[in-house]
Amino acid sequence: MRQKIEQLAQASQQLEPTPPQRQSWDESVRAYAHDFIDHLPGKKTFQMPENPAAGILDFPFGEPKPMGEILAVLKNNLPNAGINPASGGHLGYIPGGGIYPGALGDYLAAVTNEYAGIYFAGPGAVRIENMLIRWMCGLIGYPETALGNLASGGSIANLIAFVTARDFKKITSEKIRQSVIYLTEQVHHCVHKAIRIGGMAEAIVRTVPMDGHFRMDAGKLAEMVANDIAAGLNPFLVVASAGTTDTGAMDPLDNIADVCGQHGLWFHVDAAYGGFFLLADVENPDGTTVQQSFKGIERSDSVAIDPHKGLFLAYGLGAVLIKNVKAQMESHYYRANYMQDTFSATEEPSPADLSPELTKHWRGLRMWLPLQLYGIEPFKAALEEKILLCRYFYSEIQKLGFEVGPYPDLSVCTYRFVPISGDTNDFNLRLVEYVQRDGRIFVSSTSIGGQVWIRLAVLCFRTHLREVDMLLGIFKEGVEKLIPRK
Ligand SMILES: *Cc1c(COP(=O)(O)O)cnc(C)c1O
Repeated sequence: MRQKIEQLAQASQQLEPTPPQRQSWDESVRAYAHDFIDHLPGKKTFQMPENPAAGILDFPFGEPKPMGEILAVLKNNLPNAGINPASGGHLGYIPGGGIYPGALGDYLAAVTNEYAGIYFAGPGAVRIENMLIRWMCGLIGYPETALGNLASGGSIANLIAFVTARDFKKITSEKIRQSVIYLTEQVHHCVHKAIRIGGMAEAIVRTVPMDGHFRMDAGKLAEMVANDIAAGLNPFLVVASAGTTDTGAMDPLDNIADVCGQHGLWFHVDAAYGGFFLLADVENPDGTTVQQSFKGIERSDSVAIDPHKGLFLAYGLGAVLIKNVKAQMESHYYRANYMQDTFSATEEPSPADLSPELTKHWRGLRMWLPLQLYGIEPFKAALEEKILLCRYFYSEIQKLGFEVGPYPDLSVCTYRFVPISGDTNDFNLRLVEYVQRDGRIFVSSTSIGGQVWIRLAVLCFRTHLREVDMLLGIFKEGVEKLIPRK
């Protein structure tokens, strides 16, 4: 037996590489990473070859291979297929981030493999995560007793908030069909997913009308809630957006908070995209400020906010902030017998008691490390720059003869070109295709009330005037090429 074990140890030894082996792998991977970043500016943002990333399928695992060969397969297959999310030319959907020190945080999190699920197991890791959550709570104006959870993204953050609201409002099975949820047509689709996954597909979901800026009409909301109460129904939740994905609109949070307060409804704000613009110090043309447009968020019961969007971190970090931590815990904690040793250490709430997850990636370090290295200032500057870039584009695109949607509340705007003849929707779809075929910049379109609108979403930290000017040039050229000639 001992001999067999020794033999196996010999074979498994390589899972702990020798220092020279480690160093050699490190160097190859680092060279790949730096080459990737250094060459980004000349690279396309979007490409769609015939059979994208097919080489991946021709590279099965099972036999050991040298690092160089493996990295070559990555390099030959990934950066030239689909959207390059690291590119400053990514101006579609909601762009991502990927600031470098975040990657270093991930690296250390993986090497040390701290257990961030339970305070008893990883007190430092949990303290770091809870500190980050409390910082975000402070940002939105929640009291010190609030907390939440670092989730993998906005979708899970919204789900955690939804389930907490459902349980806190005691929506048990017999109440589901009479219970009412209020949102707008522009709410992110993950909220509808949360409703279904949260077991409430049979609840009544009311779509509250919007004003001309695609913001929830709080007056209409008040009427709808009053009517539903009069009809004997059970309104319990309003989901507002602080920055909708489609048009970047800010719902009137303070007025919505009034309605929720009056009728005792759970008030959830989806600020996955827009939340970090609270850091931006930017005045609006009407003399108000961007920060003022968040007024009322501090009166909400829960908020979803995505550091992998507005804090420019790599994909995989969203946050839910919840005022009533006890309610969040009652929906998510579990006491298993095999975890009885962990009960006594309670100085810090454990993430596992506040989320569906138990064991998880220590995702806090990728946020903590950059915030420590940089402080807040460069993030604030980048967010302000994104707002101004969007406003700049909004005014310049009109000079090219485009029609525009509402003045941008944050860093998303919509626009379309109306040709003198021919189908406008079709023309704009072809225009998007033209930009995507060019590939230097990526934009996406949306449909609003049956009309095709092209979107600009500025949120990548690598997007500067260069990229926005490049896009304006591509549109100018595209319109000239595609315009119907009579
Ligand atoms: C991106 C987004 C989501 C979903 O977040 P993920 O991180 O992609 O899961 C939810 N709501 C809004 C407003 C968003 O912009």
